[in-house]
Amino acid sequence: MTEPTSIPVARVFRHSNEFQSQCLAWQRQGELVGIVPTMGALHEGHLSLAKLCRQHCDRVVVSIFVNPTQFAPGEDFERYPRTWEADLAGLNSVGVDAVLAPPALEIYPPGFSTFVKPAKVAEPLEGQFRPSHYQGVTTVVAKLLNLARADVAVFGQKDYQQLAVIRQMVQELSIPTRIVMGPTIRESDGLAMSSRNGYLNPEERVRALSISRALFACRDRVSSGEQDARELAVALMQDLIDGGLDSVDYAVVADGNTLESLDRLRPGAVALVAGHVGKTRLIDNVILLPTS
Ligand code: AMP
Repeated sequence: MTEPTSIPVARVFRHSNEFQSQCLAWQRQGELVGIVPTMGALHEGHLSLAKLCRQHCDRVVVSIFVNPTQFAPGEDFERYPRTWEADLAGLNSVGVDAVLAPPALEIYPPGFSTFVKPAKVAEPLEGQFRPSHYQGVTTVVAKLLNLARADVAVFGQKDYQQLAVIRQMVQELSIPTRIVMGPTIRESDGLAMSSRNGYLNPEERVRALSISRALFACRDRVSSGEQDARELAVALMQDLIDGGLDSVDYAVVADGNTLESLDRLRPGAVALVAGHVGKTRLIDNVILLPTS
């Protein structure tokens, strides 16, 4: 890897074949290419992943694509925020080499019918509440990794289960991309940054804070010696309800690889939450114990 000399201005690609040719040209010069897949509406969390990607690669590419196949009918695909100008300004402030922002037909041309069925780790948690979601994610991520011929791909811990699903896909399909996890970036009060936070009105924003509070309290209980994962999950759920969430889809303490709920804490254990505040569904997690 060579040292970057100046902050690049992103070249924007709408067509996937031109983007793929550019990535190939970089690789033929011996440069490592890293990709950060996003759906746009970028915040500091996304930009932190681009910066992390730069630490691992010579060329950083960011995709901005609101992927229709990972939304079920009735979810927020149509109203998902689209903030192109601000996104590009943000990416140029941190310095990325290319942005892939394709129209949907470029990714899914007429007759497209090949999908990547995700592993079992996609079935609990999000898989229970958004049954077709991860198949949309694995399919688009496989395609993006191939388009970029990515040496590295960076994903956020914020979507912990997504990372587990993608890691297994990459391993089992022998995709030669190294997957890197970036930490969850939070607002100063603890709320995990999310493109969906903008849906919250001020009163909902206050109640949304109970998610990170409950997760941090869970982590504190572990630091104080609690080992019983079921007790931890019960307390987590109670804290969320007490904190004013309108409903909780799940609040679990799970194995960090399989995401199966645990009875007793073990290395790599994670606490994961999905809940609703008003019409907004939010997810968050904390790692409770380091992997051994
Ligand atoms: P999105 O466009 O929000 O679906 O996410 C694109 C990437 O950004 C995914 O790898 C997410 O896990 C990651 N991401 C989203 N929010 C955050 C955050 N607050 N901190 C770090 N990474 C994040």
